[in-house]
Amino acid sequence: MTEVKRVYTFGNKQAEGNATMKNLLGGKGANLAEMNLIGVPVPPGFTITTDVCTEYNTLGRDKVVELLKGEVERAMSFVEETMNAKFGSKGEAFPLLMSVRSGARVSMPGMMDTVLNLGLNDDTVKLIAEKSGNEKFAFDSYRRFIHMYGSVVMGVEAENGEHDPFEVVLDKVRDAKGYQSDAEFTVEDLKGIVDSYKVVVREKAGKDFPTNPWDQLWGAVCAVFDSWNTERAILYRRMEQIPGEWGTAVNVQAMVYGNMGENSATGVAFSRDASTGENLFNGEYLINAQGEDVVAGVRTPQEITLEGSRRWAVRGGVSEDERAAKFPSLEEAMPELYAELDAVQEKLEKHYSDMQDLEFTIQDGKLWMLQTRNGKRTGAAMVRMVVEMLKEGMIDDETALLRLEPNKLDELLHPVFSADGIDAANVLSKGLPASPGAATGKIVFSADKAEEIVENDPKAKVILVRRETSPEDLKGMYAAQGILTERGGMTSHAAVVARGMGKCCVSSAAGIRVDATKLTIDGKEYKEGEWISLNGSTGEVYEGQVPTITPSLDGDFGEIMKLADKYTRMYVRTNADTPHDAKTAADFGAKGIGLCRTEHMFFEGERIIAVREMILAENEEGRKEALKKLLPMQRSDFEGILEAMDGHGVTIRLLDPPLHEFTPNDEKSQLEMAEELSIPVEEIIAKVDALHEINPMLGHRGCRLGNTYPEITEMQARAIIEAACNLRARGLDPKPEIMVPLVGTVNELKLQEEIIRRVAEEVFAEKGLKVEFLVGTMIEIPRAALTANEIAKHAEFFSFGTNDLTQMTFGYSRDDAAKFLPIYLNKGLLKNDPFQVLDQTGVGQLVEMAVEKGKATRPDIKLGICGEHGGEPSSVEFCHRAGLAYVSCSPFRVPIARLAAAQANVRK
Ligand code: ADP
Ligand code: MG
Ligand code: MG
Repeated sequence: MTEVKRVYTFGNKQAEGNATMKNLLGGKGANLAEMNLIGVPVPPGFTITTDVCTEYNTLGRDKVVELLKGEVERAMSFVEETMNAKFGSKGEAFPLLMSVRSGARVSMPGMMDTVLNLGLNDDTVKLIAEKSGNEKFAFDSYRRFIHMYGSVVMGVEAENGEHDPFEVVLDKVRDAKGYQSDAEFTVEDLKGIVDSYKVVVREKAGKDFPTNPWDQLWGAVCAVFDSWNTERAILYRRMEQIPGEWGTAVNVQAMVYGNMGENSATGVAFSRDASTGENLFNGEYLINAQGEDVVAGVRTPQEITLEGSRRWAVRGGVSEDERAAKFPSLEEAMPELYAELDAVQEKLEKHYSDMQDLEFTIQDGKLWMLQTRNGKRTGAAMVRMVVEMLKEGMIDDETALLRLEPNKLDELLHPVFSADGIDAANVLSKGLPASPGAATGKIVFSADKAEEIVENDPKAKVILVRRETSPEDLKGMYAAQGILTERGGMTSHAAVVARGMGKCCVSSAAGIRVDATKLTIDGKEYKEGEWISLNGSTGEVYEGQVPTITPSLDGDFGEIMKLADKYTRMYVRTNADTPHDAKTAADFGAKGIGLCRTEHMFFEGERIIAVREMILAENEEGRKEALKKLLPMQRSDFEGILEAMDGHGVTIRLLDPPLHEFTPNDEKSQLEMAEELSIPVEEIIAKVDALHEINPMLGHRGCRLGNTYPEITEMQARAIIEAACNLRARGLDPKPEIMVPLVGTVNELKLQEEIIRRVAEEVFAEKGLKVEFLVGTMIEIPRAALTANEIAKHAEFFSFGTNDLTQMTFGYSRDDAAKFLPIYLNKGLLKNDPFQVLDQTGVGQLVEMAVEKGKATRPDIKLGICGEHGGEPSSVEFCHRAGLAYVSCSPFRVPIARLAAAQANVRK
């Protein structure tokens, strides 16, 4: 039996792992190894694999510590040698301190916070003070360590309504001494703080702070494994569909100190702009700081580049003199180190061929890299970077296509504020443009509230207003239109998470204060429920509701779409019922209509009266009378739609829903209809009752209507063919495809086809001209899929109606599924909502079977999909593999489907 390797070391330009080992070492660990291999300076350390996390969950803590002990001790000796220091030094060497960092395959908020300065106790702190000659640095590190370890590992945190007990201690000292900033703490202050912290731990955790460095280490390592299964980590995994089996790795790494004095610093940086995609190195740093100080929003971080710093000053109204004096860029403050950092970021971007998100620390004039990863980005930045990297020759067409996340294109299609709206709007404040886009909504002050409101009314628009956000707020951030925070920089939690979600966010807005029940801006108070608007691209905060408009689709976006079209096999149609929607979709690149629902036109204006007349008619005569009134209206609708999609196929579905959807159900419309038809209202009521069905979705609907009332099909076929003839007479090129819904047996389709073709011949004879048209069916009843070979004899095309097909295959009523689907998803009984993501294993089999059987009968049968799934990337990929010619989706999903279709073809 071969020994399992559980620990991988890195350091000194060597590493046992590399970038390809993300599954085993996590993203952070794999990249720490890789950076060593390409000669980037990284503090040495070791990674405990993700497999150990799985072992931990099955074998438990004691067994896993036993399994790891030997390898970890060996790895620690390697670090000690490299650093020329000793973990738990008794005086013979400089004490080695470690950071303990979690790191899954993909970066995951909700995981354990990093613990820094591990290895400190009353003895080592004195040694460090002595050997570094910097007592203040030693005790600053010690108080940070007790705070972090106390809260992260020992669970000493604010209890309901209280403040963080460690912060309370700090506040007391600050207030007593009248300090403005933490830099003013003296060594004596820090020593006192350390003593008070120990008391806090003893009181709150019920035990003493551990003094043995090895106990500290195992405590932190196990806390990382434990954090894999916290509620917030599980929630995040569910939202992002990350499997629980992946586990997290643990990175244990030698500390480097950004808090050693004025020649030390720490920062985060991006090789390109994560908001706009501009090819401009950027980021933030703080002198004499450690760890999360830069993103915590306690001190105002400074910009790394001079260009960035100048832009920052302009945005914030800071004069050039003040900027240069108080907030100089790293480029100005430490020019040589800046040059080194700039070279490293360039090297890393080239190496990974993608925008990098970097963390670094400068210890006493020496640069260390602590992390690199492909940076999160907005949809706009994603598109711009791909187009520019393609032009630079950094990536090829296929890489470019596959790097784009189809769903993120959505952000580019969504509204921005209208120029007039902006002109008229009252600017309340200006903050950092933390995540672009426009949002308008009602103020809420807690994530739970945001979630609750949107759960009750999915159309509700709320803006989450917080002092700052934390991983607990994730769900509320998802629910909100946008996020406004009082504190935090461009790399704050709110900013980073919002960009990842494509949500608009403004942070650090000037002059605002947020507490639990109100937002105060320059003295004026705003309560929950009042409207505000945010522009995440400029940082502006507006009073009230500002109107929005749809953005343009040229430029980089156009290039991406061109590229997609070059590589795609399937084309994309749209589901549209009006000429306006057809036009919108055509602008988004739709080539035809995959589903035009005729009944959606029935509610407009006076039409519903004629529709009701038809439904309430006593006999065929009466129905025909009413249908005569509907004919010209339908004809002109079809003319409009066929014209908007001239030259492209337009699939028009014959009447589908159960008739009672159109009956007058309230007293007022019943009286209106009684008057219209000159009959007593009692008769109307009786007729409405008679139309009532126990289970309407499985009742008298679809082609069952056209087969029991053939005159309806006659009228609709006539309207379609006449519309096409009229357009042809005007020199246009209409391509109608008449679709019979809800077919389960071939005879149902056959009867409908006969009617349609007979009416068409009549119209052609009357008009003295012909147009080509197709007759086909929707495959949405399982029996149709099973007998597709028979059905294909009478169908020139199949369009998979995967909404009904899913409903009938699962036996879930789509209208009632909301009662149990969320619970099923929670319990993991289903991986996805099958109405959103096509169930490839079950429903997919029916699709594949119907494709095969349909082609066997009619090799050139035209195949497409028109369910909601036609715009969902993984379902689009399935359609590609199943051999469909096109997918059809709602207008705003057309670009997403085009990209997904191209990716499917590139990936194969
Ligand atoms: P996250 O995944 O939340 O970014 P990290 O593990 O990257 O957490 O740690 C957060 C921060 O802690 C880093 O950006 C860095 O500033 C600091 N840090 C981590 N390890 C070290 C180290 N070995 N030396 C100095 N600072 C460190
Ligand atoms: Mg990090
Ligand atoms: Mg249907």
